[in-house]
Amino acid sequence: MKRKFLLAAFFGFLAFNGPSAHAASAPLVAAPEDREHFAAFLRDFRAEALASGIGGETYDRATGGIHLNPRVQELNLMQPEFVRPVWEYLKGAVSEDRVRIGREAIAANTALLERLKSRYGVQGEVLGAIWGLETAYGRTIGSYNIFEALATLAYQGPRAAYARKQLLAALRILQEEKRDPKTMVSSWAGAFGETQFVPTTFLDYAVDEDGDGKRDVWQSQGDALASAANYLKASGWQTETSWGEQVILPPEFPLGEADPEIRKPLSEWQAMGVRRADGTAIDGGDAPAAIFIPAGYRGPAFLLRQNFNVVLKYNFATSYALAIGLLSDRLKGAAAIKADWPEDIRPLDESSRVALQDGLTMLGFDTGGSDGVFGRRTRNALREYQKARGLPADGFPTPQILTRILNERTIAR
Ligand code: CA
Repeated sequence: MKRKFLLAAFFGFLAFNGPSAHAASAPLVAAPEDREHFAAFLRDFRAEALASGIGGETYDRATGGIHLNPRVQELNLMQPEFVRPVWEYLKGAVSEDRVRIGREAIAANTALLERLKSRYGVQGEVLGAIWGLETAYGRTIGSYNIFEALATLAYQGPRAAYARKQLLAALRILQEEKRDPKTMVSSWAGAFGETQFVPTTFLDYAVDEDGDGKRDVWQSQGDALASAANYLKASGWQTETSWGEQVILPPEFPLGEADPEIRKPLSEWQAMGVRRADGTAIDGGDAPAAIFIPAGYRGPAFLLRQNFNVVLKYNFATSYALAIGLLSDRLKGAAAIKADWPEDIRPLDESSRVALQDGLTMLGFDTGGSDGVFGRRTRNALREYQKARGLPADGFPTPQILTRILNERTIAR
């Protein structure tokens, strides 16, 4: 739900969401005609806001003094040329620094986290992992004016409809929580506070944990962490089970079954020979689980349980959810996993990703278009191709697969 438009859900790779080295430099101020159009947009949007119950005085306080923000516009339009391999992403997300600082942050908040565990059933280490990944435990909560950021996104561009909805919700927060609009800082995309909620999620799930009568996820760690716990609980968090674990697949394992979206009872995976990382049998039973090989057949495998899907509701990226699981394990005291990542595989750049999709489509494996984004259909098309050619059907894009597909396509022409 949060930051869902960051398109990072595809298999094993994560689109980075920060500024990129190749981004063109933006002008510091918008052109005069853009400023005029933006002012007209704000006047028009005022009527929509008032019709939805926002007071005129609230609206004017929020939008007085805001400007079209060229940096937000630039970030909004940026397509990453390269996507980071999952192993590089995990190195940063579950770094020794983040583990150490997180353990200290948890130790400093024991009473609060115990309270939240008994009230919401979410373990302190899980909340700590979200806190740590979202804002480095409250250190990086964003510095954009949320009204300026969301109004800029709502004014024009690919997220306008989404941003209009979030802008209305942000105005409602200002009104209901009686805040000073200048204190409502956010990321460029409008996520805010120590656990980076978007406005609609705040309205539905934020809670006043410290009892001061305000839901203040910016300044109150208790409010921020309780709000995250409340959201996870409402999304179906299961107290007694973990997110999953690293596993070993038998050599004959059908790789087409290794997909976060293919869920089977634990007992079936057990019968198929899936074992724990230490070689012992996994749990049986009828709880649903999936097998995930985020770097293809040469990399490590993970068993995903219900709580993994709950984290995906927080942020729809499998790499993010895996990082939350692994970081929460480390915060509980576990050692780092032992995983051989295929670090020699180079990530495909955007034109290569499009070429791979074009090639698959021409060979009769429909990717549903060539947008450079590896979603479910591209993954399945690649798997069908791999099966048809007797290759390991892991659906994982590599330069070698691309070369093979381009050669075949040339011959087929
Ligand atoms: Ca409060």
